[in-house]
Amino acid sequence: MQTFDVIVLGAGINGCGIAENLARAGKQVLLLDKAGVGQGTSSKSSRLIHGGLRYLETGQLHLVHESLRDRKRLVEKYPDLVEYKRFFLPIYKSSPRPAWMIRLGLWMYDRLSGTRSAGKSRKEDVAEFKRRFPAFSEKDLSSVLSYVDGKTHDSELTRRVADDFQELGGTVLVHCKVESVNWDDNGFLIESSAGKFCSTVLVNATGPWIDEVNKQYNLPAKFQIRKVSGIHLIFEGLVVPELMFMQTREKRIFFIIPEPENDHTLIGTTEREENCSMDELQDQEEDIQYLLNQVNAYLKTDHQFRREDVRDIYIGVRPLVRKKGQMSDVSREYKLDLHTRGDTKLLHVFGGKLTTYLSLAEKVAGVLGCAR
Ligand SMILES: Cc1cc2nc3c(=O)[nH]c(=O)nc-3n(C[C@H](O)[C@H](O)[C@H](O)COP(=O)(O)OP(=O)(O)OC[C@H]3O[C@@H](n4cnc5c(N)ncnc54)[C@H](O)[C@@H]3O)c2cc1C
Repeated sequence: MQTFDVIVLGAGINGCGIAENLARAGKQVLLLDKAGVGQGTSSKSSRLIHGGLRYLETGQLHLVHESLRDRKRLVEKYPDLVEYKRFFLPIYKSSPRPAWMIRLGLWMYDRLSGTRSAGKSRKEDVAEFKRRFPAFSEKDLSSVLSYVDGKTHDSELTRRVADDFQELGGTVLVHCKVESVNWDDNGFLIESSAGKFCSTVLVNATGPWIDEVNKQYNLPAKFQIRKVSGIHLIFEGLVVPELMFMQTREKRIFFIIPEPENDHTLIGTTEREENCSMDELQDQEEDIQYLLNQVNAYLKTDHQFRREDVRDIYIGVRPLVRKKGQMSDVSREYKLDLHTRGDTKLLHVFGGKLTTYLSLAEKVAGVLGCAR
């Protein structure tokens, strides 16, 4: 049996970030995943390191501010993996939000970002936009705005954080099946396909699997999650030269994300409440059609996408936090849920974006009394 100070379940961005932070504080940490590093939601995102422009509309200023602060830190920490990019936002006569409202939102977004190096939002020249984005419909296009946000590659970022953790002496075990978790006043005993491990602290960072994990290992928790899936479609080639933030008529949004390094374009995403278990998750034809219809609504007839143009599809699940027994979400922000027994600690991580993993990991270290 091997003994660690802390065992972290789940090697997504949050588990890796927490493990790295605790290892930096001098703790002996085991990071354990039933699949591979970053193979869960942390490889199924829109790959943006962003504040979430649309959260301004719902007044979640704290979330936007924290995310923008982490965005700046990530651009500085991993300049080869996280970079600022300009996003274009065309506004049509049918757009559900008027241009002045979006300009106000972008002005606030610039202010909240607390940095000038990212570049500011601005009004673009419509004639120049038409020249550079020839696939886009020109009918009823009234103006074009742009702003700056962060772009990354989610699973590469997660793997980098795991590598940094290992360089600090941390242990990563993947494809490791946890058979049982026993908790008493002396600590945790984990029996797994890779052997037995014990620790006095267990961090559960299993993202959208968290309710299933708590049920399976009989762990107490104050919160539960609503599983809301989102898909991305991948198309061959670069449909547009820059990233785009698009609005649907129903006031939803989607992104068009060209990735020149892969010579493909991502389009996403959708929202669907899921009731199946995480490992049974499947994309739905209805969501594929929805995204195709939304993007085609903006493309000229000879540039429209057909179903057979979709080269690949991936699906991920957002774990939205709710109090146990309640149906409505607490908020889009993450929650840390600490349970103690004698000197031993169980800490659940509910929610948390790719963008905010640094702040989340620092808060976890604070709650566990390991802040540097
Ligand atoms: C469609 C979509 C788009 C998104 N876009 C963005 C974006 O652009 N920017 C952004 O900041 N955020 C985005 N997010 C949110 C972000 O991707 C996630 O919040 C984040 O990746 C969650 O990371 P995590 O580490 O908590 O969970 P995960 O990455 O899911 O990691 C959980 C890990 O736990 C493991 N696990 C499960 N059960 C067990 C078990 N029993 N034992 C051991 N290990 C187990 C899994 O294998 C998995 O590796 C998006 C999410 C979705 C769904």
